Amino acid sequence: MKKTVLFTFSLSLLFIVSSAKYSNHADANSHINHETHTMKFASSDTLPAGEYPVKKTEAEWKQILTSEQYRILRKGGTELPYVNKYNDNKEAGLYVCAGCGQRLYSSDHKYKSGSGWPSFWRPLDEKFVEEKEDNSWFMKRVEIVCSNCGGHLGHVFDDGPEPTGLRYCMNSAAMKFVPKEENSSDK
Ligand SMILES: [Zn+2]
Repeated sequence: MKKTVLFTFSLSLLFIVSSAKYSNHADANSHINHETHTMKFASSDTLPAGEYPVKKTEAEWKQILTSEQYRILRKGGTELPYVNKYNDNKEAGLYVCAGCGQRLYSSDHKYKSGSGWPSFWRPLDEKFVEEKEDNSWFMKRVEIVCSNCGGHLGHVFDDGPEPTGLRYCMNSAAMKFVPKEENSSDK
């Protein structure tokens, strides 16, 4: 009897260890996480607020990100307008998170907002981004973070074009652009 209990215990331990390993593996390969997330000020249905499927220490983030990516994604920084990488990018393709590779935006929804930052009127899917209240700098804004790693991407404003009326104002350095040719599986 004791042996059976011990065996079951080690089995569940093995399962925990292997699932942890799997999530690390998936993360390292920038696999897209299809976790469902709610849109309104909640991080996830399954994880406590402020926790994300992709978790790394500050040292680990510093290792995989450039200093500019780290400053924006992990420290909530903002890059300069107009001189950033994707403001004027008109190529067809997808914009993925520079931190974890999760798909975020499509060139189909990019428009010229004149703000100086790449702007989209909707994310690829609402579950890929998460909204958070941001009351910094004496302003009331809605921050947008990646729902997979929690990385800061930018803000959303309600002065965008129809049909949503939204302007997702993103930092180029928080994203990586994947041209359509390399992405033939996505329409
Ligand atoms: Zn991410």
